[in-house]
Amino acid sequence: MEFRFSGLSMENSTPQEPVKVLILGSGPAGLSAALYAARAEMNPVVLTGMELGGQAALTYTIENYPGFPEGVGGSQLGELFQKQAERFGARVEIDSATSVDLSQRPFRVTSFNGQFLADSLIIATGATPDHLLIPGENELTGRGVSYCATCDGWFFKDKKVVVVGGGDSALEEGIFLTRYAKSVTIVHRRDSLRAGQILQKRAFDNEKVKFIWNTVVTEVLGKETVEALRLKDTVTGEERIFPTDGMFIFIGHTPNTGLFKGQLELDEGGYIKTDTLMQTSVPGVYAAGEVADPIYRQVVTSAGMGAAAAMQAIRYLEENTKEAETTLEP
Ligand code: NAP
Repeated sequence: MEFRFSGLSMENSTPQEPVKVLILGSGPAGLSAALYAARAEMNPVVLTGMELGGQAALTYTIENYPGFPEGVGGSQLGELFQKQAERFGARVEIDSATSVDLSQRPFRVTSFNGQFLADSLIIATGATPDHLLIPGENELTGRGVSYCATCDGWFFKDKKVVVVGGGDSALEEGIFLTRYAKSVTIVHRRDSLRAGQILQKRAFDNEKVKFIWNTVVTEVLGKETVEALRLKDTVTGEERIFPTDGMFIFIGHTPNTGLFKGQLELDEGGYIKTDTLMQTSVPGVYAAGEVADPIYRQVVTSAGMGAAAAMQAIRYLEENTKEAETTLEP
């Protein structure tokens, strides 16, 4: 039997910290949840995960978050979210969960730096960019292959780059890359784009942006750095070598749900299933943002989901505390 005293477990010498609302992830969903939980005096703790500020912090300019008519830097917005949550008492820890046990309450969460006993849990762990899974991609990642224009664009000053994908991300990041690159060639597997009309117009109007249609990249070539790509026409099957200094891949994302497999219901894409109240398949565990949203994936929608998840967690804790008090009454 486990013997606990003042939050210390004899099973493991690491103290187990009791937390009313534990939030995993520090993107727009996690930090909005933290703001709402903090304002309800729940003293939430946020474990940032490996990417402080989430994917939004890697975006150079966010032009569609309301309240910023001139746009706002992604990392700047993340800092503002954090500052606002901390002002009301949220604690943001640069730490990442390594395992969770959702089989009983309080939920047990182990992180790199500690262990937590959480009365409620809000999962806002986001999503990770998909890879093409072609020869040379892994070997040359960081040497010309990249998944983040904001992080790596600067290295391609006056160089030729390829962007793979035909969605909003490919076009938005491709247009961003024209700040540095001599030319940006968007390679798309079909002959029409998935991206919205505004971005399409901007890309077509930008003289540095070129398109190669009906084409996939089948191999990344280069010794030390990217030198060329092997391209294959999806209609004719013809192959050719396309010289380039870099390749940015924006072909979608996979939700970060590995920790929860077998404990929470996931959909076929691996996203956490929630009801309209952000409730997962385990009462007291909520999910918000891209980890539970294969459709909208916007900063504003993730922030809204985070706020809603926190409101539900607060309600859940109030109801459960009331129930516990009622059962204790003589
Ligand atoms: P996405 O919309 O899923 O687009 C992925 C693109 O990559 C598609 O064009 C797809 O081709 C292509 N693709 C997928 N797998 C591929 C492969 N193995 N090889 C080659 N091409 C491949 O992903 P996203 O652009 O990251 O956008 C995700 C969500 O975020 C969307 O809802 C989007 O609207 C939103 N978003 C919005 C903004 C904004 O509003 N400013 C900015 C970024 C993202 P097919 O078209 O043939 O399927």
